[in-house]
Amino acid sequence: MLVFSAICPHPPIIIPTIGKENLEQVENTVLAMKELEKELYASQPDVILIISPHGDIIPEAFSINLNSEYVADFEDFGDWQTRLEFFNSPELIAQIRSITENKLPLILISNQKLDHGTAVPLYYLTKHLKNIPIVPINYSFFDYEKHWQFGELLNKVITKTDLRIAVIASGDLSHCLIKGAPAPYSPKGKEFDKELIALIKEQNYKAALKLDKDLIEGAAECGFRSFLILMGIISEYKHETEILSYEAPFGVGYLVANFKLK
Ligand SMILES: [Zn+2]
Repeated sequence: MLVFSAICPHPPIIIPTIGKENLEQVENTVLAMKELEKELYASQPDVILIISPHGDIIPEAFSINLNSEYVADFEDFGDWQTRLEFFNSPELIAQIRSITENKLPLILISNQKLDHGTAVPLYYLTKHLKNIPIVPINYSFFDYEKHWQFGELLNKVITKTDLRIAVIASGDLSHCLIKGAPAPYSPKGKEFDKELIALIKEQNYKAALKLDKDLIEGAAECGFRSFLILMGIISEYKHETEILSYEAPFGVGYLVANFKLK
């Protein structure tokens, strides 16, 4: 059963040992992640499904990392101390594999190290959920509709299992909101973030599939496909959407949104 679902950003700068004096520039995001952590803990999840844009993406297939144990560290960002460990959920991975068979290509991969799209949200959200089993999922480069369909298939597994499932869609919004941002400035960035947040507020998720493709690509986002998978799941449930924070101090849109089940 589904007990929790949320959208999270993944800038390593929100990790205190990495952000240091810059942490106050992402204060809203940090506070929102702390708030979300309380909500996740209260939902008593057994397993976390986490979708990231930055794992070992296979363009022609969705993929799940089935390594028996995972390590989240931030050595690539100069933090040699933080190290979190997680375990997989073989039962759930087997069920996802079986439900997608003959419907959508799914490949199982193995990598002990978690990417930062997975590690940053887990750093905040599992403060009181040490060693919780996780299922690290990578999106594909299939069209947007197929990502929604993958979400619907995941939801079949979620509704069937007695395990209490949390789903986290990791992803940042536009990367081109200001001059000096990671991607060259484009006014499409602001428009994309505004439209996406509006449709999430209105729960008009199908409108995400109708967004102009030039707008999406022009926004240089990384999270859109993660969010579509989540939308394929959450659109089956009565819920409220809560935008906990949105900010873009470095020209990249960071959104924290909670989809509260009714
Ligand atoms: Zn990203």
